[in-house]
Amino acid sequence: MAQPATEHPASPHPTYPHLMQPLDLGFTTLKNRVIMGSMHTGLEDRAKHIPRLAEYFAERARGGVALIVTGGYSPNLQGSLYPLAGKLTTKKEAKQHRQITEAVHEAGGKIALQILHGGRYSYHPLSGSASRIKAPINPFTPIALPSIAIKKTIRDYARCAKLAKQAGYDGVEIMGGEGYFINQFLAKRTNKRTDQWGGSPENRRRIAVEISQAIREAVGTDFIVIFRLSMADLVEDGQTFDEIIALAKDLESSGINIINTDIGWHEARVPTIVTSVPRGAFVEVTAKIEKYVGIPVCASNRINMPEMAEEILANGDAQLISMARPMLADPDWVNKAAEQREDEINTCIACNQACLDHAFVNKKVSCLLNPRAGRETELVLLPTKRAKKIAVVGAGPAGLSAAVNLADRGHDVELFEADAEIGGQFAIAKEIPGKEEFSETIRYYKRQLEIKKVQVHLNHRATAAELSGFDEVILATGVTPRVPGIPGVDHPKVITYAEAVKAQKPVGKKVAVIGAGGIGVDVSEFLTHDTRPALDLAEWKEEWGVDYTEDNPGYVTKRKPSPSPRDVFLLQRKDTRIGKGLGKTTGWVHLAAIKGKKVNQLTGVNYERIDDEGLHISFGEERKDKKVLDVDTIVLCAGQESVRELEAELKAAGTSLHIIGGADVAAEIDAKRAIRQGTELAAQL
Ligand code: FAD
Ligand code: NAP
Ligand code: SF4
Repeated sequence: MAQPATEHPASPHPTYPHLMQPLDLGFTTLKNRVIMGSMHTGLEDRAKHIPRLAEYFAERARGGVALIVTGGYSPNLQGSLYPLAGKLTTKKEAKQHRQITEAVHEAGGKIALQILHGGRYSYHPLSGSASRIKAPINPFTPIALPSIAIKKTIRDYARCAKLAKQAGYDGVEIMGGEGYFINQFLAKRTNKRTDQWGGSPENRRRIAVEISQAIREAVGTDFIVIFRLSMADLVEDGQTFDEIIALAKDLESSGINIINTDIGWHEARVPTIVTSVPRGAFVEVTAKIEKYVGIPVCASNRINMPEMAEEILANGDAQLISMARPMLADPDWVNKAAEQREDEINTCIACNQACLDHAFVNKKVSCLLNPRAGRETELVLLPTKRAKKIAVVGAGPAGLSAAVNLADRGHDVELFEADAEIGGQFAIAKEIPGKEEFSETIRYYKRQLEIKKVQVHLNHRATAAELSGFDEVILATGVTPRVPGIPGVDHPKVITYAEAVKAQKPVGKKVAVIGAGGIGVDVSEFLTHDTRPALDLAEWKEEWGVDYTEDNPGYVTKRKPSPSPRDVFLLQRKDTRIGKGLGKTTGWVHLAAIKGKKVNQLTGVNYERIDDEGLHISFGEERKDKKVLDVDTIVLCAGQESVRELEAELKAAGTSLHIIGGADVAAEIDAKRAIRQGTELAAQL
């Protein structure tokens, strides 16, 4: 069994004694138990981006994280995730990486390079894998590598690790999960070979073991080697518990220093990191493995706050905690925890909107909450040389980010909010089941407003007259639900999404939702849950068909969502598939969730009228198939309109005026744009 994190440090931290305890690996010591997990940023592929990458990592190292793991670099061309994706195969490339490793070391951190071979997930025609089986998420079919090519690939891994050492890295992480190359050999699902690399579990894990041994031989003993082990494949015909344990033991014997947790293949139909996954959902599987090895094991996935991290370590479920996206959202996460300023942490809400969703469409990765992430050298918020008196109207995400960042720069800021609480539309979003994390953002801003001494006027609808004494006025008055011109829309059975969710107006047993954008889908989730439950792990496992029974390969079983308390019809006028505009990495989860709740989805709808009978609809240009949905309640989710009622008067008074967020443009407004606009404006004024 691995050493629990309970030996006595010189002076244990008063709140997080396990999290802040150093970890001695024999030849080197990690200063605490926090690893920044690997994330592809889109800056790995070109040498010209190295200075940006160096500053991005250095900012996180200054923030106190013990060990950073880079995004994945391929050990050879075949393993590249896409043409010209980042690889580490030459001394020239290794030399370029020195800027990164030096920046991190200067900042007092340590950094390991992740070695990632895409196998059948590589998006190009030259990909290779264990067997010739196409991945469901990739149009390219890999070749089945002959044994000689497998041996060459093992040597490529070793060369890559050696180059990483020459580049000044403190270690490497071998990506052995997420359904990538090594994982493809490990699981029966993708390994149909009959030679020494396939068949028995021992043969299937041979490549993982030989790569680990070859790397250790190449780098010597004073270099951290982490193996990212898929502890729950979450696909049919994935690894069984016995296979995972046997692999973990063999990895330990091969000289691996740390086993990191990986959960779920990219093609898995079980969500593993989105916001509706309960916090710490997979600690259970890490804890199971931890019992069988003597090297430190690292927990991962949906851990975003120090209390939970501490609890995992204190329980002996793991010896390290890996957090990736939380370090994008708040580079100072560790320092804040260490200084017991956890209420100042900008908590990652697992929305994926500016990180993974960007990565999947080849855009540079950033963070919805922290638009500086990945842009540390460009979006700089320096102290102001001339403090101004600035009014911000509206405390939604746009106004909050502007107010807090302006005050941080030294301006004198007053924030006016018509509502009794801050948050704007985001305060509605946090009421949606599965979006509970959004309340952390409101907590964060509330605390920042206090710290930065912003004068906040709640329950205060600002007027143009009272804004006349300010040097600058920022209109962040956001949006209001659109009320479409459907005959009978003023019928008492019609309410807006804000009235249904925030004001909790009564909703009947049969409901029509007009509009199937992000909000329509969210409201459908709200209506198909009885009450707003706290995220419950047992219920979540049932809903998504996760079953950790040890002889169940891949740990997946039949989904059993709990029945909806209401009949819900979700409608749109377009005849395209519902959910097309949802996030790339989260949309499928929302759609699977409402499908599980048997929401009736109707497209190509014309809204004819609303009366006591219900909602009268027809379909298509010919207005055919007329029918009445005899619903008790109709919830409007038909988009939004900007609130700019103060604009004309302020302009007429010659006010220096700036309009941001939904007040600027209502179409497609989301918190990502709202916070980015608020932050960018704050950097300029
Ligand atoms: P708003 O949030 O509309 O805030 C404007 C504020 O200004 C309000 O608080 C209002 O009371 C105040 N105000 C208006 N006039 C005055 C005045 N004269 N004086 C004082 N105060 C005034 N976005 C995402 O990115 N991801 C999601 O997952 C997501 N989910 C959502 C789910 C739901 C159910 C909803 C409703 C929204 C969701 N959104 C999501 C959208 C996101 O919340 C909005 O895009 C964002 O809040 C817009 O920010 P904003 O600051 O521009 O405006
Ligand atoms: P939206 O995505 O623009 O959807 C509006 C819906 O209303 C559409 O289905 C539209 O479809 C319908 N509609 C528009 N005008 C109408 C009219 N006059 N009469 C009847 N129906 C009409 O906007 P939203 O759902 O309001 O969401 C607002 C923003 O919040 C989005 O841009 C989104 O980015 C953000 N958000 C994000 C998430 C997330 O998970 N990332 C979740 C919620 C919200 P038809 O025109 O086909 O009927
Ligand atoms: Fe977390 Fe969302 Fe930021 Fe990604 S974009 S790091 S998921 S808050």
